[in-house]
Amino acid sequence: MPTFSNPNEIARETFRLLATRRVAPTPDNYRAVYHEVAGTRDTTGSGFPAEPLKSLAQALPRETPAQLRLARELEQAIKDEKLETYVASFSGFLAERASIEKLEWSELINELLQEWDATSASLTPGKKRETLDHIFSSAGSNPETLFNRLQAVVRNWRQGGRGESITLVEGVPDAESTTPKDSTDLAAAPQSRAGELLPQLRDLLAFALEQAVAAQIAEAPELAAQAKTLAESARKASSIKALDELLVELKRFAYRLELLVDDRTELRNGLLHLLNLVIENISELVIDDNWLHGQIAVVRDIVSQPLNLRSIDDAERRIKEVVYKQSQLKHSLVEAKEALKVMLAGFVDHLAEFSDTTSGYHDKIEVCAKKISEANDINELADVVQEVMKETRIIQINAQRSRDELMATRKKVTETEQRINELQAELDSASKLVRHDQLTGVLNRRGLEEAFEKEASRARRRSTPLCVGLLDIDNFKKLNDSLGHDAGDAALIHLATVIRETMRPQDTCARFGGEEFIILLPDTPLEDAQKAVVRLQRELTKRFFLHNNEKQLITFSAGVTEMRSEDNQASVMKRADEAMYSAKKTGKNRVVSV
Ligand code: GH3
Ligand code: MG
Ligand code: MG
Repeated sequence: MPTFSNPNEIARETFRLLATRRVAPTPDNYRAVYHEVAGTRDTTGSGFPAEPLKSLAQALPRETPAQLRLARELEQAIKDEKLETYVASFSGFLAERASIEKLEWSELINELLQEWDATSASLTPGKKRETLDHIFSSAGSNPETLFNRLQAVVRNWRQGGRGESITLVEGVPDAESTTPKDSTDLAAAPQSRAGELLPQLRDLLAFALEQAVAAQIAEAPELAAQAKTLAESARKASSIKALDELLVELKRFAYRLELLVDDRTELRNGLLHLLNLVIENISELVIDDNWLHGQIAVVRDIVSQPLNLRSIDDAERRIKEVVYKQSQLKHSLVEAKEALKVMLAGFVDHLAEFSDTTSGYHDKIEVCAKKISEANDINELADVVQEVMKETRIIQINAQRSRDELMATRKKVTETEQRINELQAELDSASKLVRHDQLTGVLNRRGLEEAFEKEASRARRRSTPLCVGLLDIDNFKKLNDSLGHDAGDAALIHLATVIRETMRPQDTCARFGGEEFIILLPDTPLEDAQKAVVRLQRELTKRFFLHNNEKQLITFSAGVTEMRSEDNQASVMKRADEAMYSAKKTGKNRVVSV
């Protein structure tokens, strides 16, 4: 539309527009179109300057709850055309803002820093940090609430934690809920030292996240990327709202970092343990090189795969068993061989001596007997008798000596027997260290005990669910009776194989008793654990057990339960057993979870 400055031109244009728009030339219509043409505003209405007040209200920021509330009040005042309300809202808002800006932030932060550095036995830095975390997350975006709570904390710390407790700090009246206050951009408060410090702190935090943290956790790329994103957010966070969000994110990040550090420590300890074990073992293995090769193969196998705590733990247990058994067997074998050699050599010598002596004696007696039969007088006989007596005495002495020597050998044999018995007993106790079931290769009860403790403490530490499944083969006695004990053994091996191949690598399988198996499912809620065991059940019906090339269907009944805070190993197993029992009672080949 062209612009007109002359009132006559404006009037003419006004009439022209009224005509072309076919609007009746009433005074009101004329006035409206006149102002439109002239580009001026109609102030003859109610006298309430709605337009300028609306523009002003719209231009105000709406980032915090207080600002939003003000905007709403102003909009309502414009709608109601109440200038007084509009002015009252505005001045109330400004007065509050002024009072907040007067808060002595610099003094408070100074005091806070002093109390932070002060050492106290009851207030560890960890506890202090926890209190601050709590305050920052609960004070919302209201600076006044934050100020009051921080002040209370400083007082509390000054009294060495004996004054108001954290819960009392929580009890400081929430200014936001009683008297609504403005929340302001801290960095923009000119009088506030906190406002000056904040950007520096933010930059330092960003630097630490990018340079120190991200570089240290390069092997966890997702977490390292998160550290960098957080650094970016820290640089940009200038409003209270943004700082609040940053704080929440930082807390989450710190928690994940803690878990990573936990894992790393466990991983490192596991590795060191393993290394020590291998080195110790090398000295034990000088006799038999095959063992040495076996050990090295296990370690090589682990190193060639991505390291995880479970595989290291497993390898350690296996190597321990082998080392122990082998050293025991080696000693007993060497001793037994020696003893056998000595005994055999002794017997051979004695037999040879004895038969030499006795055959000489027989020869001589034979000669004497001949002399006796041919003897013609008593003198001749006396000589022969003397000879017989001499030979008999010799053989008697020899027999005595042989008897003594045989007695000594017998004593040695008894001693060796005793030593072998001792070694056998030691071997028996060594087998108590064995963690794997000899038949199926899965963990045995002892191995299960250790694995459960490990998984349970990990689950408690990380607040993740841990489930336990107890499986019992259905009608196993019948299978044993009809197909034989060896077929029963093969069926147990088959089930263990299917379990291992169907469940996740992090699940642990153990043989609990004859035909009962336990599965530990870490990081798994009850519903998922039940589904996993049902999946195993289906898998078992698909993968037949073959006996003499005939398909045999094996089924099991199972009870599944989730570990609760008050549980110990026995109570979890008992619950799983009861659930399994109820699966048996209600028809077998089913999974019951409790
Ligand atoms: P249910 O369906 O109620 O579980 O009946 P079941 O026959 O499976 O259970 P029961 O407890 O009556 O019998 C279990 C059988 O498992 C008895 C035992 O001879 C057999 N068994 C236990 N350990 C072994 C083993 O190592 N090898 C073999 N072959 N059989 C075993
Ligand atoms: Mg049973
Ligand atoms: Mg059974």
